[in-house]
Amino acid sequence: MSTDSSAKDEIVVQGISASQGIAYGQIFVYLQSKVEIPAYRVGPDKRIDEIARFDKALLVTRQQISKIQAEVERTLGKNEALIFDAHLLVLEDEALISETIREFETTGLNIETCFDTVSKKYIQAFSEIDDEYLRERAGDIRDVAQRVLQNLLGHAENSLSQLVERRIVVANDLSPSDSAGINRGSGMAIVTDSGSRTSHAAIVARSMQVPAVVGVRDLSNRVKTGEWALVDGYDGIVILNPSEDTLFRYGKIQTQKKSVEIRLLEANRQKAVTLDGVEVALMANIENVEEVAHVKEFFAQGVGLYRTEYLFLNASRIPTEQEQFLAYKAVVEGISPNPVIIRTLDLGADKPMTSDPGLFPKEDNPFMGSRAIRFCLEHKDLFKDQLRAILLASHHGKVKLMYPMISGIEEMAQANGVLEECKAELRQRNQPFDEVLEVGAMIEIPSAAATVDILAKQCDFFSIGTNDLIQYMLAIDRGNDRIAHLYEPAHPAILRTLKRIVEDAHRMEVPVGVCGEMASDPVYAPLLLGLGVDSLSMAPRLLPAVKYLVRAMKMSDARDLAVEVLGMASSGDIYAKCVQFHRSRVAFD
Ligand code: PEP
Ligand code: MG
Repeated sequence: MSTDSSAKDEIVVQGISASQGIAYGQIFVYLQSKVEIPAYRVGPDKRIDEIARFDKALLVTRQQISKIQAEVERTLGKNEALIFDAHLLVLEDEALISETIREFETTGLNIETCFDTVSKKYIQAFSEIDDEYLRERAGDIRDVAQRVLQNLLGHAENSLSQLVERRIVVANDLSPSDSAGINRGSGMAIVTDSGSRTSHAAIVARSMQVPAVVGVRDLSNRVKTGEWALVDGYDGIVILNPSEDTLFRYGKIQTQKKSVEIRLLEANRQKAVTLDGVEVALMANIENVEEVAHVKEFFAQGVGLYRTEYLFLNASRIPTEQEQFLAYKAVVEGISPNPVIIRTLDLGADKPMTSDPGLFPKEDNPFMGSRAIRFCLEHKDLFKDQLRAILLASHHGKVKLMYPMISGIEEMAQANGVLEECKAELRQRNQPFDEVLEVGAMIEIPSAAATVDILAKQCDFFSIGTNDLIQYMLAIDRGNDRIAHLYEPAHPAILRTLKRIVEDAHRMEVPVGVCGEMASDPVYAPLLLGLGVDSLSMAPRLLPAVKYLVRAMKMSDARDLAVEVLGMASSGDIYAKCVQFHRSRVAFD
């Protein structure tokens, strides 16, 4: 490692490990906040300057958008870059510009305030129009207006999508759409003040394969863009101004980790079979089509969870049925002949669509609010577009469809009712789809866990979402770093529930997998297998460590482990037992 840090004192900050890896570089501070617009009067002598300032901000914004458009065209393709044409058109909109100047001349208020007032009026008017194309323009105006305001206020550099140099992103908070929007070549590590291992920003960091540490409290306030830091994603540590000694030590750790990784990757070419001959299905969790390559690189046996909401999070408008079909088809064909479990939208809570906040009114308890299947059943047209797109994709490979956040049989029946309507529509249109498409439910709400035998009558398979199941069972907000230490997968209540889910599902002859983060943790994977789950699904990069362990253990021992820990009362003891099981079979961490 090179040593670029200054002679400042080294400071070690402990956070929560969210994604493995080590990175050393300069910090980019990203403060997620709404743009605050100060309102003040501009004297008559300054009016010409004020309008010149507005012209300049429009010009700079145009240059920025053109640059991003060129970059997107280069990396993603012409079609993806077309959206920015609409953004450039907003900047040429005579009505928006002249009305801002008129507002300025009548009120005498600063140009930011006037532009904000006028653009909001336009956004409101467009979002109420009963025409899909025109409604989408509201999103374009909102994006561009935000950028113009940031330029007027001199905040333009604080935008993640504009980050081009390789930097360690230190943020007060990072929404999934923020993290998904980080240019993959430039975010070398992610550090956030808030969050936990199962918050969605952490999940995205793992799939991007960048080191991440979350829950570092107020670090984003204590550091400045350009300062040097080392991020240790293995132990959840951030070291500011690392000394020569520290860099040397981490250089050695990195070499060591690399050699472990090479061993894991070599073993990963082999089958996932235990020492007593039981084959285990290891699947991948993905968020977008680019990850299909990782699924293959890490030899997953298919996709156990495709989080389709990521197609929506950063889109400037809701993707159409055809656009979704093309995205799903690309994934399905890429994974074929292996199966892909496509999960319907899990929007809401910490995953609202940024371009359409109107769809996500503020809620006091969003994680218990209109999220996932609830949101879809509330917005049936949007849901049907997605269901038809998934059905159409099912003609191009092996697709299974899964609903998130199912709470009981009525909801399941309602969702299946909408699915049947969609099937009838496609038959009417003479468009082929898999008539025997398997349909399953995530088990991630306690009420679903307690009624698996009832749900089984309408489900071909189950997948346990431990991230949410633990959050809802233990009443621990999965994104809250203050209580992250209480988020306890080894809690006896969780173990008993998992046992019951598996037993009830198997009694009804329905297979059950786990796709929450617990499945990717080599400490917990044997316990889950010992409890009888049929498959584990995880971020592709985490698969080799789990497979290595599977190949080093006996299934009969895993079953004994499950029986033993089910008899224990304390999470600490259960965890220690699972760690011991892991350590005694795998000599390295
Ligand atoms: C889960 O809740 O465990 C899960 C896999 O879904 P998500 O993390 O997308 O909520
Ligand atoms: Mg979930």
